[in-house]
Amino acid sequence: MWTAYFVTIPTVHYDVIIIGGGASGCYAAAQLSDLRPDLSIAIVEKTSSFLSKVKISGGGRCNITHHQFEPKLLSQNYPRGSKELLGSFFRYAVDETLSYFESLGVEWKAESDGRIFPVSDDSQTVIDALMQKLHNNKVKLIYPQGVKAISKQENAFVVGTTSCEYKANAVIVATGSAPNMNKVITALGHKLVAAVPSLFTFHIEEPKLLKLQGISAEVEAKAEGIETDGPLLITHWGLSGPAILKLSAWGARHFFEKHYKFDLNLNWVRKKQQEVLAELEEFKHQNANESILKPQFGLSKRLWGYLIDRADLSQKNWAECSRKELQKLQEVLTHDTYSVVKKSTYKQEFVTAGGVRLKDVDLKTFESKIRQGLYFTGEVLNVDGITGGYNFQNAWTSAYLAASAIANSELAGLNQ
Ligand SMILES: Cc1cc2nc3c(=O)[nH]c(=O)nc-3n(C[C@H](O)[C@H](O)[C@H](O)COP(=O)(O)OP(=O)(O)OC[C@H]3O[C@@H](n4cnc5c(N)ncnc54)[C@H](O)[C@@H]3O)c2cc1C
Repeated sequence: MWTAYFVTIPTVHYDVIIIGGGASGCYAAAQLSDLRPDLSIAIVEKTSSFLSKVKISGGGRCNITHHQFEPKLLSQNYPRGSKELLGSFFRYAVDETLSYFESLGVEWKAESDGRIFPVSDDSQTVIDALMQKLHNNKVKLIYPQGVKAISKQENAFVVGTTSCEYKANAVIVATGSAPNMNKVITALGHKLVAAVPSLFTFHIEEPKLLKLQGISAEVEAKAEGIETDGPLLITHWGLSGPAILKLSAWGARHFFEKHYKFDLNLNWVRKKQQEVLAELEEFKHQNANESILKPQFGLSKRLWGYLIDRADLSQKNWAECSRKELQKLQEVLTHDTYSVVKKSTYKQEFVTAGGVRLKDVDLKTFESKIRQGLYFTGEVLNVDGITGGYNFQNAWTSAYLAASAIANSELAGLNQ
């Protein structure tokens, strides 16, 4: 005779459950527990570690944000979310984020390119500060438990994980770009913009170019109608550096549709064609007997030699160059075309374009317009920034605005 025992696992109630213990989830919990110490708050994290991307970010140094205090200029660094985030940045952006990290004891410094890091140059400083705050404010950490379902029953959300069930009055979904949450999110009535990679480098099969690996130059880069400028780095597989990474972010969807096969144009001197031709004619006039191999336009000797070769110039000095040959050189300098054959990951730093559709979220509060009490923050949203600390800023800003909206909302006491 078998006896059946039904074990009922009690459902634990929290005022607020935050799903995902990454940058955005932990920041939201820290802020909310400061603003409302009376609330019971839990973070449910799928893995055994919190803030794991913060740990590896910025080469282990954590590029917390970017030295850009002007909301309008800050918002221009988001290929997806630029227009939508402007209002959010007027409410909470770099200044407020840095003040908060200072209050946690994280000293920061800005590098010459605007990237902001902890003075320690160690991402662990940021992790320790946030985790200490969560501990001090008694935020409950539930892990490793992956969330499998979220539903709304009467006034409460029911959050089902791999092993338990929880109830909460408000839920913040801060699960990053993890596709495992797609079904859970769409079941709540939200539409997702399909995910495609952003921030990648370009593969180019041009043996002579690849021999220049390690050389950098300031360029203008253009592909599929998108233009960027900045430093370019030649690598052993093709091209990288900020000019290319920015292009990959702004063109993420175009390049995906082209299966990462497209033409790239480089302007090595960042000048207009006519201007360059006039300068080349002037060189010829002024330096008739000088070798054409002497680098010009501030380019390195090896890069200049490569470009001269690319323009098929075999002459020894400027006097020997015809106007047609100068035109050919001008063409190479200002409109040098390469076939990109595939993409590759940049230092394992990848960001995903796509996520929860922004028009379904109130960007003052990051609350869903479809389900009251449900919030989305960080990379789970269809927002992505170029490299330089912008992605974390989206995580901090959305987390703070959701936390402050919840802090000011009326949370019916489920826990009483
Ligand atoms: C190698 C690397 C370097 C980077 N460097 C930088 C940088 O220097 N500066 C910058 O601005 N950006 C950087 N980024 C991007 C940045 O890390 C992300 O934009 C940021 O972490 C997004 O924060 P988030 O909290 O939204 O998501 P995440 O940090 O991805 O956190 C999401 C969390 O949710 C958890 N989760 C997922 N699904 C579930 C589930 N079903 N149940 C429970 N938990 C779940 C995950 O385990 C994770 O802990 C880098 C990214 C990478 C990969």
